[in-house]
Amino acid sequence: MNSQLKLSQLDRLSFDNRFVRELPADPETDNSRRQVIGAGYSRVLPVKAPQPQMVAYSREVAELLDLTPEDCESDDFLQVFSGNRLVPGMYPYATCYGGHQFGYWAGQLGDGRAINLGEIINSRGQRWALQLKGAGPTPYSRMADGLAVLRSSIREFLCSEAMFHLGVPTTRALSVILTGDEVIRDMFYNGNPKPEPGAVVCRVAPSFTRFGSFQIFTARRDIELLKKLADYTIRTDFPYLGEPSKEVYISWFEEVCRRTAEMIVHWQRVGFVHGVMNTDNMSILGLTIDYGPYGWLENYDPNWTPNTTDAAEHRYRYGNQPQIAFWNLGQLANAIYPLIGEIEPLQKAMNVYAETFEQSWQSMMGGKLGFKVYEPATDDELITELATLLQLVETDMTIFYRHLAKLDIRLASDNAGEENLIAAVNAAYYVPEQLTDEYKTRMASWLRRYLKRIQADAMPDEIRQRKMNAVNPKYVLRNYMAQLAIDKAEQGDFSVVNDLLELLRHPYEEQPGKEEFAAKRPDWARQRAGCSMLSCSS
Ligand code: AMP
Ligand code: MG
Repeated sequence: MNSQLKLSQLDRLSFDNRFVRELPADPETDNSRRQVIGAGYSRVLPVKAPQPQMVAYSREVAELLDLTPEDCESDDFLQVFSGNRLVPGMYPYATCYGGHQFGYWAGQLGDGRAINLGEIINSRGQRWALQLKGAGPTPYSRMADGLAVLRSSIREFLCSEAMFHLGVPTTRALSVILTGDEVIRDMFYNGNPKPEPGAVVCRVAPSFTRFGSFQIFTARRDIELLKKLADYTIRTDFPYLGEPSKEVYISWFEEVCRRTAEMIVHWQRVGFVHGVMNTDNMSILGLTIDYGPYGWLENYDPNWTPNTTDAAEHRYRYGNQPQIAFWNLGQLANAIYPLIGEIEPLQKAMNVYAETFEQSWQSMMGGKLGFKVYEPATDDELITELATLLQLVETDMTIFYRHLAKLDIRLASDNAGEENLIAAVNAAYYVPEQLTDEYKTRMASWLRRYLKRIQADAMPDEIRQRKMNAVNPKYVLRNYMAQLAIDKAEQGDFSVVNDLLELLRHPYEEQPGKEEFAAKRPDWARQRAGCSMLSCSS
């Protein structure tokens, strides 16, 4: 009786698969790797998971789908979200897209290991697309197997939920489930393949359409299909812009520029480095998508990238993310040019990116520093000097801002000594020996100027502190923390995954007893694989 009840909840999900209804299907139905021409997607079934086992699920995402914790803990949930059972209304398919990888056009890419299950309409009328990542090969799998390993699945699951709770636009993750199969991976592409546990993540987003989804059709001169996808996207995800027309295509592109700018400002605020900002990894909705070899800035270093595949060029380094997003938007502009036929409005829209970025970045930095309003005349210089100081010695960005919020305003008038000032941010330094007298004098002088600046705002200390703490997280998914969760999970203990999920639900709050996770990266993690070095192998 009970299991029938649970079963019926998943069976009652209400599907409305608009994407497959409105875009042309691949006429070939065999699941062989190939170029798929003239189609938006190919039908494909997930492979069976021999022994699905729950690692973790997100109750907030479950709620979006009108599922209760009880539903998520049922055996039926395991069967459905590991890909073993299709519920009525599901229509599995993989989409076709292309992209620029590391600056070069790569041709067809597509959902090589993502299988869409369909779009559900929840009780609030919201549309949510469901996608299994790691559920087997598709026509777009190229040389690879279509599977995913536990470590990268945990990283995607935890980070997308952490980003959501930080207030960063992102795709979501419902669950991570072990399949019971082994997957062979050469983690660093250095001739050491080994079997690893396979897993499937169920991702959830209004849409998974990427810049590269448009690029592929233009590259193939299939303008009819380009227009179909653009019209579909505008009608489904940007209906407030009006019925598709030349003007609406332009305002749509402007909106994509605006949303992308906002997303990147959030990344810079929390210290998130995506690691693979290829155009196929850029969401048309301005969501963070495709969590692969991403990382979190620990010591502030604009040149840092977690991705070993990008070690030579550092194309996707923290400090370059705003420029890369702009470049990627330029590629999207090229792709939709045939719908508009004029360059000027596209260039104007690109300016919208630059302007939105500038404005949002200033208000974000003003927020991080606790200013009432960002005043370029004084604050530009203050921030430039801070960025220099943060790099002069290894300084943990997240800890620095939380401690700055606690800085006592009385230190401004007390003729406070250098030592007192530095002590306030001391917890953020990795290598105390780096703190030379010259550095200390320079930092103390910056702190004095900063205190004068906030004195001028005359905001009560507690209010400033509260405002700063609402935008400067205390807890982020430090790279080593994800690795701790993975190490345990690989031994069959999922408690750390679930503890971190809980911790990262409240990233801005003080969480007594959890301080160890707000501390600096431990020394052992400095050079360990998975903590400071990651590759695309996942
Ligand atoms: P990524 O770098 O993860 O964004 O992936 C780039 C392309 O490679 C996309 O088309 C992916 O679907 C595909 N891909 C990555 N890993 C696999 C895999 N294990 N099996 C099949 N396709 C994959
Ligand atoms: Mg990708």
